[in-house]
Amino acid sequence: MSATPSAVDAATVAAIAVEDAHLAHNYHPLPVVAARGDGAWVTDVEGKRYLDLLSAYSALNFGHGHPAILAVAREQLERLTLTSRAFHNDQLGPFAAALAALCGKDMVLPMNTGAEAVETGIKVARAWGYRVKGIPADSAEIIVADGNFHGRTTTIVGFSDDPDATSGFGPFTPGFVRVPFGDAAAIAAAITPHTAAVLIEPIQGEAGVIIPPDGYLSAVRDSCTANNVLFIADEIQSGLGRVGTTFACDREGIVPDVYLLGKALGGGILPLSAVVANSDVLGVIQPGQHGSTFGGNPLATAVGLRVVEMLQTGEFQTRAAALGEHLEAALEPLIGHGVVRFRIAGLWAGIDIDPAVGTGREIAEKLLARGVLAKDTHGQTIRIAPPLVVRATELDWAVEQLRVVLAG
Ligand SMILES: *Cc1c(COP(=O)(O)O)cnc(C)c1O
Repeated sequence: MSATPSAVDAATVAAIAVEDAHLAHNYHPLPVVAARGDGAWVTDVEGKRYLDLLSAYSALNFGHGHPAILAVAREQLERLTLTSRAFHNDQLGPFAAALAALCGKDMVLPMNTGAEAVETGIKVARAWGYRVKGIPADSAEIIVADGNFHGRTTTIVGFSDDPDATSGFGPFTPGFVRVPFGDAAAIAAAITPHTAAVLIEPIQGEAGVIIPPDGYLSAVRDSCTANNVLFIADEIQSGLGRVGTTFACDREGIVPDVYLLGKALGGGILPLSAVVANSDVLGVIQPGQHGSTFGGNPLATAVGLRVVEMLQTGEFQTRAAALGEHLEAALEPLIGHGVVRFRIAGLWAGIDIDPAVGTGREIAEKLLARGVLAKDTHGQTIRIAPPLVVRATELDWAVEQLRVVLAG
């Protein structure tokens, strides 16, 4: 199906050397230099092809260069790209209306990156806590979960429990309370009269595709409702079709008060994020209190509208669910053969590699050499999140490469 790449060669070595000389070392990329992308496949500077099982951490849910997304981006690129929010533009309104409808809400606040959506959600929750709930000034609390990943700003890393994220970056923003993930009773016990919101990922992505026990999201929903606390679902990685439903919250049939969206919302072309809620919550933000120069720009929102339209048909959600079942069946025989266990939701899996066969990084490097792009997380876990346009036969081929790599 693809040429099996051999040793890293000269053009790749040269390209990596230029990066190493001039880039801050905040990432440790695998040794492949991508030059083109098409659907679920990436071609490197040497012309070798790779199946993309990472999808830019789910920002490429629709694959590289989806024709329908490219078409609208090209057309909008020629018409109007940026106005700032000092003026209206003719793309933002239709995007906001469609996205709100997809979420069953009535208001959208557009930003660019995921971290900005999270920061916005935090500001909205605090403002709502003071202005609507009546929490005394400067004492609002937000409950978060152990193992969380919500982005890289100083406020957000301040409530992470990953030492790489926090060490050497303090002092941090106060007002966050962390409890174990997947334990609804711990959230209920942590709620006080000062609690404005619970902020969680319905499935934790960076932590290794950690799926909470059945009933967790419903129980958190009930605690929030009973105590007049906002439920903020960070669906930046789990949302927009990845898990076989539009949102991971749909798996338990619950609706949070606030959705945080990003990654795939920009169609794999540009950054686009959003906070989506009803006006009784998002309406607390008034002119001058929050904003972004690029947030809601017509190029990004034209792309975002197309993404929402593609999700309205349900075809990507159905595809993710069916392919996820296919992937699950293909992975099962690997348990006990280099795989300790795996977790899967739709087309999103975290595979725990037996330390006896290597680290996650070593397995990812060996997969790369066999034409598969995958990324380790937290040492022993390989995260699998192919574009939702991948074919079942391609998944089979990728799992076969993993089987060979694990067999040594
Ligand atoms: C990626 C991610 C973010 C941050 O998004 P950026 O666009 O990288 O800032 C926030 N929350 C979750 C759950 C994510 O996966």
